[in-house]
Amino acid sequence: MSAVATAVPVPSVRPVLRERGQREVFCGLTSIVWLHRKLQDAFFLVVGSRTCAHLVQSAAGVMIFAEPRFGTAILTDRDLAGIADANAELDRLCRDLLTRRPDIKALFLVGSCPSEVIKLDLANAAERLNREFYPGVRVLSYSGSGIETTFTQGEDNALRALVPLLPQDDAQQLLVVGCLADVVEDQFRRTFDALGISQVHFLPARRARELPPVGSGTRVLAAQPFVGETVRALTARGATLLEAPYPLGVEGTTAWFAAAARAFGISTETFLACIEPRAVRARQSLDRYRSLLAGKRLFFMPDSQLEIPLARFLGEELAMETIEAGTPFLDQQMMACELSRLPDSVRISEGQDVESQLDRVRSAAPDIVVCGLGLANPLEAEGITTKWSIELVFSPIHGFEQAADLAELFARPLVRRTRLAL
Ligand code: SF4
Repeated sequence: MSAVATAVPVPSVRPVLRERGQREVFCGLTSIVWLHRKLQDAFFLVVGSRTCAHLVQSAAGVMIFAEPRFGTAILTDRDLAGIADANAELDRLCRDLLTRRPDIKALFLVGSCPSEVIKLDLANAAERLNREFYPGVRVLSYSGSGIETTFTQGEDNALRALVPLLPQDDAQQLLVVGCLADVVEDQFRRTFDALGISQVHFLPARRARELPPVGSGTRVLAAQPFVGETVRALTARGATLLEAPYPLGVEGTTAWFAAAARAFGISTETFLACIEPRAVRARQSLDRYRSLLAGKRLFFMPDSQLEIPLARFLGEELAMETIEAGTPFLDQQMMACELSRLPDSVRISEGQDVESQLDRVRSAAPDIVVCGLGLANPLEAEGITTKWSIELVFSPIHGFEQAADLAELFARPLVRRTRLAL
């Protein structure tokens, strides 16, 4: 029996348009919206301004919880001017919160632009609070500020903060990295079981206190393209990154499972018996979108770092044509497999100069532009169909079972535009 064939990606030498002008991208605080849903025993305390509080609340929508799992410690003028002792205030607030909420087992102090400007040392604050509350509560810190992070980099920073806490274990195991909807995590676990890979852990787990082990036998499979710093922290602890595209669409998901199968010596027969029926069903579910989407031209503005994997999926499986795939930050290591599958005709841009990018959009006249909320309304007013990129982060889109849902997210605005035109 032969093992599943190996495909080693070559590093990309394709040209990248690098822009360093005005950006229209959310800051890393936005990641709290999906992280707090996933980590059910954690609380995210943004140490920031009223603007930060508004951003997180509006990104989260009108979610009213009896016991919310995120909040903002608002820095007042007295804190910003150095008149009040912000450290003492923060300690008092955390003490109140943790006393009132015994369900919180992990508290993330999340830095923002204002906390960074006044040099409030949240790592130190976490250490101080750990002396008081650990082991009942683990206090961690990371930055979600717009100075240091864009959008999904907030998740990378949160996960990286967990890496030093992971127990050492050099046994053979698979670690899937990147926040996934619970339903997707369950599907992936069942598929790994069917392949015969039983030692599988997820980072993050559903509870921040459930820390997966890491060591020289750990093979890391990234489920999201924006977890590069976390992956590098894991490899520094002995883990090995498996090269694979991301599990978006049928072909991406197949190649992703193939990378795990190769690493764990699963035979081609076992792999095909397990994966092929799932892939066939998923391909059939995509059929009805192909006629709708084939030949349609797309333009991705930089937002979530999902742009390049999505361009690959939409081109390979639905015959859509991406004109430009903009990404806020291009991590060559994490994107190597994706770039090797993307046609040379796709322009890759990194960073943003929003006005010149909008000029490129207008002159290319794409059928659909994938962009942040702030750009969607003005583009729609110009008659250009848009897709909110934030939906692609909040919706379960990974894996075989979600391939058609992912196609539907692109088909819906095009169908709506056609109906409006009738
Ligand atoms: S962290 Fe910075 S960019 Fe993000 S909401 Fe707060 S002030 Fe704005």
